[in-house]
Amino acid sequence: MNDSDQQVAAFLCDGQPAWDKIDFEVHCSRCGYNLYTLQQPRCPECGLQFAWRDVLDRSAWQSDFLFEHHWRSRPAHSWLKTFTATMRPFHFWRRISIHDRVHAGPLWFLLGSTGPIFVIMLPATALVTRLLASMGGFLLGFIDPAIGRVLGDLAVDLQRQPAAPSAKQAPVLLGTVFLVVLVALGVLASLRQTLGRCRVRTVQILRVVAYAAPASCALYSVLFVFLNSVTYTVYRLDLSYLRIPAELVNIAVPLAVPAVFLCAGLKCYLRLPRAILLAIAAVLIAGLFVFTVFAVALVVRLGR
Ligand SMILES: [Zn+2]
Repeated sequence: MNDSDQQVAAFLCDGQPAWDKIDFEVHCSRCGYNLYTLQQPRCPECGLQFAWRDVLDRSAWQSDFLFEHHWRSRPAHSWLKTFTATMRPFHFWRRISIHDRVHAGPLWFLLGSTGPIFVIMLPATALVTRLLASMGGFLLGFIDPAIGRVLGDLAVDLQRQPAAPSAKQAPVLLGTVFLVVLVALGVLASLRQTLGRCRVRTVQILRVVAYAAPASCALYSVLFVFLNSVTYTVYRLDLSYLRIPAELVNIAVPLAVPAVFLCAGLKCYLRLPRAILLAIAAVLIAGLFVFTVFAVALVVRLGR
């Protein structure tokens, strides 16, 4: 039995918490309800089922790799580990305990990193894809000239399309990404008491959005380059029957990617019912809000 097991064992008597020996506050990890003196391992406020060991073991309140818990001792290493782990959202959230201590400061930092990640990833992905297409076209051209030509054309299309934001576009892009993330956070925070009959602490919602936003933005930047070049090719080759499907995919993907990442956190971590509906609602409202802001800005500009 290790130290933490011994500590927890001291707080338990026949599997029940010995409240007279517990001198720290014990709250529900999802909604913050005070669990002190309760006998059943189920939160009366939000219905979360838990094991007494998890809420009483203070040594288990910290993950072994998250940036949120290790940003002081190893910032770059923990950020990289956290970022790569969030690229597999369902797997990631199964590794994270709802009973961890949540630190809002580092989470706001992660949220803020979303825009810069997008602005850096876009041109980087375009460059790497272009190089791969050129090299692939050159090498495969020896085996099959037709495949070599297709890849060569793709490399040219990638060069022509405006995948990399210009110095003028970058701040607008950054602002847009921040706005979408903040509105999605606001929507989830305001819906948290009504959907799924679950009251959830705002900081837990922040945690889900802060881990979903940078990863979904990174994935979308890769898909953006790919979809952009496919759409460009469809128009260049004048494949009129593929134009509408290509445009529809261009609209659906930026909504679907963040919705899946959000859904993973809401479902596997916060264990909310109807998580996918909640995620879609947040992303749709955020998207519509930003679209309206752009439309109003355009009308004001044209009116001048
Ligand atoms: Zn609760």
